[in-house]
Amino acid sequence: MQNLVLVGYGMGLNQRLHHCDAIRKTRGLNLAGIFDTRKESQEEARRCYDVHIYASIDEVLADPRVDAVVIATPNDSHAPLGIRFLEAGKHVVLEKPMCLSTSEADDLIETSRRCGRLLTVRHNRRWDGDYLTVKSVIAEECLGKTCVLDSSLDALIRPSGWRAQKESGGGWFVDWGCHLIDQVLQLVPARPISVFATIASPAWDVKVETFARVLIQFENGVLSEVETSNVSWLPRPRWYVLGEKGSLIFLEGKFLIRTALEHREILPLQSRYDDFYANFSECLNEGEDLLIKPEQVRDVIALIEAAFLSARTGQAVRL
Ligand code: NAD
Repeated sequence: MQNLVLVGYGMGLNQRLHHCDAIRKTRGLNLAGIFDTRKESQEEARRCYDVHIYASIDEVLADPRVDAVVIATPNDSHAPLGIRFLEAGKHVVLEKPMCLSTSEADDLIETSRRCGRLLTVRHNRRWDGDYLTVKSVIAEECLGKTCVLDSSLDALIRPSGWRAQKESGGGWFVDWGCHLIDQVLQLVPARPISVFATIASPAWDVKVETFARVLIQFENGVLSEVETSNVSWLPRPRWYVLGEKGSLIFLEGKFLIRTALEHREILPLQSRYDDFYANFSECLNEGEDLLIKPEQVRDVIALIEAAFLSARTGQAVRL
């Protein structure tokens, strides 16, 4: 049994359902404690969970009973906290995005190797039902060779709190784009070779991006457009895939698939979020391989970095 501590207990459902409850129902994992710098969060955690509530980060770092930590704090703190915990001999789960730059990603990966501790990132959207459906339809080959793979996450949300601060790692493209890019990199079996992006703040008078459109070209010829928007009263389709033999669109909760042979509507598969902690437990207890390897997530950070460079310079960036 491995003892995990959650570092960062925000007031949203994410920490409760997707970390604390998920850890508690995973065989081989034990939620041993929670730490948050805010007193209100500590009190809320104490009310909800019968576990040790740590009083300081140093107490977690020094506790020999702690095998692993889950870091669910604002995005700019992932790398510095992750490195401290790895160096203290703890395995580390980082919330997404892994960090804010490739140099931070390299430091994290180097520290995890040097300290011989596991490092992974909770890219839970690899188990979204709609993503799993796109993956399975592509694998069925009814669309033929994939030519275009577009993925959009458009909403009507004014960024607030640390998500409205660039230096904290805020911004919808950083926050959500990392999920979309991770999914696209999993779906296309080729290396991305160039990125061209427009990233801007056309709405809400905030200092972070509220719109991003990023065109990624892959070595096998696939083109992928990833869009995130904070100003959409009507969203684009979440998925739009063009293959040589057919197309797929996902909008308003259902998929439409059209080929020369069929026109079918399907519902998304069930999401399988429990798989993340199940795999982490198997890695810690049985020596299995991580499903989400830090090197894969470094590629996501590299693409985000290239997209911002492209948007600044107005040029495509070769990868
Ligand atoms: P939040 O602001 O609601 O909560 C963050 C908490 O971290 C706060 O309670 C804050 O007091 C605490 N904190 C800040 N610095 C700390 C430190 N050094 N040590 C301990 N606690 C500290 O934010 P949130 O919405 O819960 O997001 C937190 C992280 O989770 C972000 O990285 C975000 O991207 C990620 N997230 C991921 C998903 C997902 O689907 N994977 C969903 C929501 C949030």
